[in-house]
Amino acid sequence: MVFSVKSSRLVAVLLLILAIQVGLVFFLCMRQLSKDVSLMDYTIVIDAGHGGMDSGKVATDGTKESDLNLAYAKTLGKMLADSGFNVVYTRTNKDGLYGLATKGFKLRDMQARKKVVESANANIVISIHMNQFAGQLSRSGPQVFYQSGATEGEKLAKCLQQTFNSHTGNHHEAISGDYYMCREMPCPSVIVECGFFSNAQDLAQLKTDAYRQTLCQLIFSGVMNYLCS
Ligand SMILES: [Zn+2]
Repeated sequence: MVFSVKSSRLVAVLLLILAIQVGLVFFLCMRQLSKDVSLMDYTIVIDAGHGGMDSGKVATDGTKESDLNLAYAKTLGKMLADSGFNVVYTRTNKDGLYGLATKGFKLRDMQARKKVVESANANIVISIHMNQFAGQLSRSGPQVFYQSGATEGEKLAKCLQQTFNSHTGNHHEAISGDYYMCREMPCPSVIVECGFFSNAQDLAQLKTDAYRQTLCQLIFSGVMNYLCS
């Protein structure tokens, strides 16, 4: 009991330290940005991956990726909105965006997300997912993906990955490939895989409020680093 009180205090202190660091990054970045830049005019689309009958990855304990993606998206969105950004979500409940659960639902779902991004006139898109790699159960931590050849997407992805690595001590690199949510977007777009369902320690911490806050603060910090780089 004493230990759990101590450890929860430690988590609270670590979160506070991180919040101060993120606040400092935000403050310094805002000073550096032109006075003409209004965060209210800077639109960030937060895309919670999957939803509805598409659960995404399902962990051994039954945790659905679609549910965690939504929780992370909401926490991140609130942080960004509280700081003045214009935040738009592709989904805010457990439903997918595909309409009827009939053939071709996955493509319809992705196309609906694209429409949200286009209607929002987004500046950047952050798509939230959870990772899985059965081939290497020890692999852990957040990892960022971007569209091959997309210069700004690569820049955003690298800023985020660097911010994650400086916290985790990992040496992961942002990975390029061909992804609908990056390729089809009219603005820089990245996929953030927040951690690995295939790693027991990652899965346990991904489900905690404290880690969700931490990870979202790191994404926030990475976005600020991108804006001011
Ligand atoms: Zn996913």
